[in-house]
Amino acid sequence: MTFTLSPTKAVQAIKPSYIREILAATHQAGMISLAGGLPNESAFPMEIIEQSMQEIKSDRTIFQYGSTQGYPPLLNYVREQYVVREQDDAMIGTGSQQCLDLIARGFIAPGDHIVMEAPSYLGALQIFELAQANIHSIGENESLTGPDLTQLENTFKQNDVKFFYAVPDFHNPTGICWSLEVRKAVASLCKQYEVFFIEDVPYRDLRFKNEPIAPVSDFYENCFVLRSFSKIATPGLRLGSVIGNKTLINTLVKIKQTSDLHSSIPMQALLLKLLTHENFPKHIENIKQKYQTHHDAMLNAINEHLSEYAEAKSVDGGMFLWVALKHVKAADVETVARTLLKANVAVVPSNVFYPSDFALEDQQVGFRLNFTHASVEKIEQAIGIIKVELAKLAA
Ligand code: PMP
Repeated sequence: MTFTLSPTKAVQAIKPSYIREILAATHQAGMISLAGGLPNESAFPMEIIEQSMQEIKSDRTIFQYGSTQGYPPLLNYVREQYVVREQDDAMIGTGSQQCLDLIARGFIAPGDHIVMEAPSYLGALQIFELAQANIHSIGENESLTGPDLTQLENTFKQNDVKFFYAVPDFHNPTGICWSLEVRKAVASLCKQYEVFFIEDVPYRDLRFKNEPIAPVSDFYENCFVLRSFSKIATPGLRLGSVIGNKTLINTLVKIKQTSDLHSSIPMQALLLKLLTHENFPKHIENIKQKYQTHHDAMLNAINEHLSEYAEAKSVDGGMFLWVALKHVKAADVETVARTLLKANVAVVPSNVFYPSDFALEDQQVGFRLNFTHASVEKIEQAIGIIKVELAKLAA
């Protein structure tokens, strides 16, 4: 006799996401994808990778089981680079995604109040939904320099908020970079209301213009900082890190042990070789230059061809432009994205970046466009197709 196994209620609540449909379609012949948050393979540091692989391949010890907290030489590198407070420590995870998942598993009980930006990173939204957190969404301020601080303070006042999760540097999906004033104000509100801050900064090192702005964690100690090596090295390595108070990091290490014992040691050894290679700084400069060129090409094409229908603001780094649509309603944006998909251009519509109960009338309506993966030629071609399709819809 056969019988079925039901997923838990929390898993059943995960919606079939349109984004999975889009990403599946991006492999079809002729499709131009501006959908995924993918770095450009032509900019992967293949020469350095090859050399580094040669160097690590005869070290038997790295193919043995290893330490849960991280391959010690890489862990020490991360500590030296990023840990600034005596009471803090670091852990290496299988992508920063795993680090966030472990935080949720360790510290979020069903019903706990979590604040995040809206729109927000879908991967974080899914983690918090799976943890059955009570999610509060904060919109952006009018000058687009970060979250609406009045709304944030009211939410902190009215609820016993445990975490505020945010992406202050080149936000996914909006590309926004918080101003210094907003960062300081968020730090002081978190301090006042005793809210823990999760600072997710996978795009921080991908700044191609202007000076870096101090992270929120410089002004506030009760933080987890999530860093990723996906964007500066390669995402397939699946390596990221989390920094926070030593006691809390110890808790994460305990949970990680039950999850995967440790992240791949050969990949950690390879990553360390890359990060410390004499040509790595040059690689970072090259990708920044390349992405700036792609960004400029996309923005110019949008300004030239889409101004009647849409608007996008320049960003100083990261991988995304947010294209605000002028004449489309929130309820229709997914249909518009499906129409574009039929015309062989994949984009991610705004609705997927909001929690399911977020009021449609309060959603910003638009697309997230990735400018790093497609070639400049394809980007220009795609914007031309978007123009034709938006014109047809407006007619
Ligand atoms: N946070 C944000 C905001 C992201 O955009 C991503 C990936 N696109 C991640 C975390 C996950 O990064 P990683 O590859 O390090 O798991």
